Amino acid sequence: MSTFIRSGCGEKGSALRVEDALHRMLDAVTPVKGYEQVGLLDAWCRVLHEPVVAAIDVPSRANAAVDGYAVRAADLPGPGGVAELAVIGTARAGHPFPGTVQAGQAVRIMTGAHLPEGADTVLPQEQVEAQGAGIRVGEGHGQGDNVRLAGEDIARGTTVLAPGRYLTPPDIGLIASLGQGEVKVKRRPRVALLSTGDELCALGHPLPAGGLYDSNRYTLHAALKRLNVKVMDQGIVPDEPERLREALTRAAANADVVVSSGGVSVGEADFVRDVLLALGSIELWKVAMKPGRPIAFGRIGGAVFIGLPGNPVAALVCFFQFVQPVLEKKMGISERPVVPVFKAIAAHRLSKKPGRTEFQRGILDPTPGGWRVRSSGHQGSAILTSMSRGNCLIVLPHDAGPVEVGEAVDVVPFAAFM
Ligand code: AMP
Ligand code: MG
Repeated sequence: MSTFIRSGCGEKGSALRVEDALHRMLDAVTPVKGYEQVGLLDAWCRVLHEPVVAAIDVPSRANAAVDGYAVRAADLPGPGGVAELAVIGTARAGHPFPGTVQAGQAVRIMTGAHLPEGADTVLPQEQVEAQGAGIRVGEGHGQGDNVRLAGEDIARGTTVLAPGRYLTPPDIGLIASLGQGEVKVKRRPRVALLSTGDELCALGHPLPAGGLYDSNRYTLHAALKRLNVKVMDQGIVPDEPERLREALTRAAANADVVVSSGGVSVGEADFVRDVLLALGSIELWKVAMKPGRPIAFGRIGGAVFIGLPGNPVAALVCFFQFVQPVLEKKMGISERPVVPVFKAIAAHRLSKKPGRTEFQRGILDPTPGGWRVRSSGHQGSAILTSMSRGNCLIVLPHDAGPVEVGEAVDVVPFAAFM
């Protein structure tokens, strides 16, 4: 089942292209199997397990699309003619007219009210002339005007939503419109999250010499929450083989996916790689991207493991590039949400080396001539301020060189994925 290749692309080998690394990861991941039944109010951002099939027509009966008069098309006048119809009652939403509209008759009707028996057309009230207990109507109306037909939105028996659907607000409304109060959704994947590094300090404690607050766990926790997976926070693990072994074993025993940050760069903490190799099938990949580069990927027991780089921006960009798609597959989402990539004009020169995909942090501005993009500041992979200040990633493709002022570049707005 596993498609992991344990050699062939170590730190010393040639770097993997971003898209190849992602493909390898996705190939190695299978969706969760379990499911549960939840109330519709808890179904948003969950993944449908069973198809939703319409048990009724929506709308359930023909009804008025405007306020006006329900009439029989056979009574409507031809060109130049005028018809006079007697108004015999009223139909309001929730209060249908109980009788039948006969020849020469009309029923006052409000938007959403069921069309009375005998009527097949609704005349907007502004297009008729009220006259005592009747109406006068001229030419220009056709059979079926302003009538919403039964089943016009959804016909009974139709599969409205397929398994694997990541439920959106309109989806929830659609299910509600069928009268269904509960849905079967896939189990939420459990994601264990940990930070590694002797220098990391927990929030709320004074920074010791050489210390650094553990920001990655908070950044990644927030990004995971947005996906509505179950986050199992494993805290900070020091750079000690035994502690790391314990922490990863525990995390993998309880989680579907284990995500760590730090400790994957070679040389600095080589035992991390050894611990991972001893526990499961893990590889260190050099990915041709900036920020990013070393990523660990593999399996510990039944869990998928992804080790992100420690630098805060690299960790977050790699999260969006790799962890998020992996989790979407794990969640059982059949069609990944569309992430828009569009063109914007570079407001200044952007330096770029061929041979790696670069994700630069930018600020996208609307201008009368279209979208313009500029750098959001220092692009170092530890500089979180430029990520926070930015509103998009500028994606510079693998083979491209520097970008000159006025050239078009691909941008992905943050709003599309975070
Ligand atoms: P590493 O990948 O462990 O070599 O770490 C690379 C850089 O990222 C180092 O400067 C680390 O101090 C920093 N770093 C690692 N983990 C974190 C974290 N959880 N929060 C903030 N910075 C980190
Ligand atoms: Mg480290």
